[in-house]
Amino acid sequence: MSVSLLGANEIRELAAELDVTPTKKLGQNFVHDPGTVRRIVQTAKVRSGEHILEVGPGLGSLTLGLLEAGASVTAIEIDERLAARLPQTVAEHAPGAQLDVIVSDALQVQDVPGEPVALVANLPYNVSVPVLLHLLERLPSLERGVVMVQAEVGERIVAGPGSKVYGSPSVKAAWYGSWSSAGLVGRKVFWPVPNVDSILISYTERDTPRGSEELRRKVFRIVDAAFGQRRKMLRQALSPLLGENAAATSLVLEASGIDPTARGETVGIDDYVRLAEAWQPEA
Ligand code: SAM
Repeated sequence: MSVSLLGANEIRELAAELDVTPTKKLGQNFVHDPGTVRRIVQTAKVRSGEHILEVGPGLGSLTLGLLEAGASVTAIEIDERLAARLPQTVAEHAPGAQLDVIVSDALQVQDVPGEPVALVANLPYNVSVPVLLHLLERLPSLERGVVMVQAEVGERIVAGPGSKVYGSPSVKAAWYGSWSSAGLVGRKVFWPVPNVDSILISYTERDTPRGSEELRRKVFRIVDAAFGQRRKMLRQALSPLLGENAAATSLVLEASGIDPTARGETVGIDDYVRLAEAWQPEA
């Protein structure tokens, strides 16, 4: 299939035709560099025939890159004007390609027909973490993904225990799988140019089955408590949840093989899971 990607001129023409003034609120920074689009698609190892989920297709830059690789795409877009124009853009630039558009806030999506295998997206900056966690939770068919996010946020997501930027997004993301950086992306590939750097991060689903929804909730509650007071030792930070006082909490931590004097920022996902398994919250 012959596909032509969008360059700077096409992006400006499309925006002018739609009378779109990109908004910060919706993180509307559109990629106008075909090289960056192909880099994202190659990093995601998109293969012909795969069903890919994209969040925030915007004017269609990345969508066309995914279609060029032979994927079928389901795209979730909150902005009705952009969503309404996308099928026409695809018909013009990638005739015959398979695209489904869902007009919605990605945070409200409960299901995506056709079980997409990968999430590939240039995510809106201000909701990137909640969108990622929501979709990974709702769509277990997603085995892998590559997303572009604000560099500072991406560095937090891929961080491991002991890193200065390791925090609750790191542990929550690790509940679903393993994450790594696939490199920074310069500001100039976007229109309008954002005032922060971006990073590509890559996700692979964990090979062991995820725990139950009940276990996930417990892990996330513990993680929120641990990082809510990240300078405190776990025996203190977790005592409102796990025990009547620091001494009782120490016993629960020790029973899970965790040093009660450790801080949340040094503990990995497997330890948080063991702790959550040992914790029996009162109903
Ligand atoms: N993928 C396009 C590209 O690379 O040029 C646009 C990416 S732009 C960074 C983010 C896109 O996400 C915009 O099209 C915006 O309208 C859309 N968006 C913002 N918030 C959203 C949400 N909660 N759910 C779905 N789409 C959203």
